[in-house]
Amino acid sequence: MTLPDFVSIREVGPRDGLQNEEPVPTEAKVRLIDALSATGVRRIEAVSFVHPKAIPQMADADEVWQRVTKVPGVRYSALVPNTRGAQRALAAGFTEIEVVVSASDTHNRRNVNRSTAESLDDIAELIALLHGAGATCEVIISTSFGCPYEGDVDPQRVVRIVDRVVADGADRIAFGDTTGMATPRRVRDLVTVVRERHPDIPLLLHFHNTRGTALANLLTALELGVTEYDASVGGLGGCPYAPGASGNVATEEVVHMLHDMGIDT
Ligand code: ZN
Repeated sequence: MTLPDFVSIREVGPRDGLQNEEPVPTEAKVRLIDALSATGVRRIEAVSFVHPKAIPQMADADEVWQRVTKVPGVRYSALVPNTRGAQRALAAGFTEIEVVVSASDTHNRRNVNRSTAESLDDIAELIALLHGAGATCEVIISTSFGCPYEGDVDPQRVVRIVDRVVADGADRIAFGDTTGMATPRRVRDLVTVVRERHPDIPLLLHFHNTRGTALANLLTALELGVTEYDASVGGLGGCPYAPGASGNVATEEVVHMLHDMGIDT
């Protein structure tokens, strides 16, 4: 078994974590991001630009971002649901942007109020917009390993979305295990088929630990050569449109495991 020497961890606690808690004061969010910047984490998903009615916890995204101390060497990114959010993220000065689409229609409708196909049309325009502004675009495919409304998600359905967004110019693909339905088998099935079709597109995996499988999933993905992962400080997180979703895999647990295995982060 060959494992990578280095793994890149993106801290998503300030976004995925806090969007699922009772709204916390702006000042506390700024303190959290600044404290994370000081830990040595090199990538932080800082905010999301979503409609404040949809996710009131992120209504102060602009102010949070203005007040955060931008530490040299740390890559800060923002998550957006659509082109409007992407315009706000660009205006705020972000150059690394993640856009989210769900593999399952029902979750996509709950999350962004339209079908997966409609989101994909919007994402094609959004990628062109971001590239035109000198920014990169990662496409996060939620419910890649299962959907709380529709159950199992066929890897072939995910693959068709990957085909589409890669053709449209996505810089990186992330697979979101939105409700912790992933298992090592599901990870192997999806990553293997995507790697066969798209050997060069960077992949990032985003695991929730709802059923305690997150570290097992991560180890499986490591064996398949995936070297980028989301994690959340203290395991904060969930999904506002996925009942019962619990936290992300905890950053400190991932770091502990990888370092003990001789893998730098
Ligand atoms: Zn998540």
